[in-house]
Amino acid sequence: MKLTNRSKVVSNKEMTFMEKLYLPEIFKGMAITLKHAIAGPKGKVYSYPEVQKPRTKIWRGLHVLKRDEEGRERCTACGLCAVTCPAEAITMTGAERTKDEQHLYREEKYASVYEINMLRCIFCGLCEEACPKSAIYLTDRLVDVETNRGSFIYGKDKLVEKINERIDITERQSELQKKSVK
Ligand code: SF4
Ligand code: SF4
Repeated sequence: MKLTNRSKVVSNKEMTFMEKLYLPEIFKGMAITLKHAIAGPKGKVYSYPEVQKPRTKIWRGLHVLKRDEEGRERCTACGLCAVTCPAEAITMTGAERTKDEQHLYREEKYASVYEINMLRCIFCGLCEEACPKSAIYLTDRLVDVETNRGSFIYGKDKLVEKINERIDITERQSELQKKSVK
């Protein structure tokens, strides 16, 4: 069954002498590059990283683990986000809340460790959709540039929002989500 009209039939024909040389194709490619270099950029140019291109509020960037209105962490370490994640980027360890920790964690169970491997993440947003506690959202922030692979594993220190620096995610929420958040 044909699934698309855009598929190309692969040709196994023998290459000609000119094709085997590769040079004509290389020059053709360089000519295209030169043409674009002379024509200059189309549209506005941003001198990144000093000047960043504006991003929409519903940009799927760096995650945030949300707190509730009393400042308690929302995540209950149910693991649904990790199960849903197609890139297997999320890992966590659950712990039981003690009486003294009721002001820190909203639910009886919480994530003592919560990590996202940003090198694996494809920013699909499925973790956000799977979460029953409105605890995880993607934001318009970018993942930092790092120089070693280990630094791309983001823990709670980078993911949980700061009490005094709340991140507004209302633009990302559907009307149903807004109504269901308790
Ligand atoms: S955005 Fe997608 S890939 Fe990234 S952690 Fe969430 S579910 Fe996994
Ligand atoms: S972020 Fe949401 S889905 Fe993931 S473990 Fe926490 S409560 Fe469960």
